[in-house]
Amino acid sequence: MIGDAAHQTPPSRDGVNQAMLDALELSQALCANNFLTIEDAISSYEKNMLARTSKVTAEALQLVEAMLAENNLQEMVDFFKPERYAMSRQNNCIECN
Ligand SMILES: Cc1cc2nc3c(=O)[nH]c(=O)nc-3n(C[C@H](O)[C@H](O)[C@H](O)COP(=O)(O)OP(=O)(O)OC[C@H]3O[C@@H](n4cnc5c(N)ncnc54)[C@H](O)[C@@H]3O)c2cc1C
Repeated sequence: MIGDAAHQTPPSRDGVNQAMLDALELSQALCANNFLTIEDAISSYEKNMLARTSKVTAEALQLVEAMLAENNLQEMVDFFKPERYAMSRQNNCIECN
């Protein structure tokens, strides 16, 4: 499975990116020569996908909690403060992790 079917998140900033990465990584696994069976290739894709998306999903849920919090306006203002936003983007940077 790929995209929201595999890891539906609340509407946040990353659902489409994660879905596109899923498609890319699954196709790479299926085209690689280093798996004995298709099941092995899919299993490898799934393992990586679950590790990657569980982090993003947890962050998306935090964002929704902040949006629904009593002090949500302040939470949103804080979220987009340069240092906090930069840290969040750094955590999601595939090449950086
Ligand atoms: C309000 C909102 C705002 C969002 N904002 C952002 C954003 O800013 N940035 C971001 O990255 N992501 C955002 N997302 C999330 C993003 O839209 C999804 O993560 C992304 O579309 C998932 O792609 P997908 O291909 O997995 O699923 P989908 O885009 O849901 O595609 C699934 C497709 O399958 C079709 N389908 C379903 N059942 C069947 C069936 N039985 N037979 C045939 N076809 C079927 C559906 O009609 C649909 O076209 C937002 C989502 C919402 C709801």
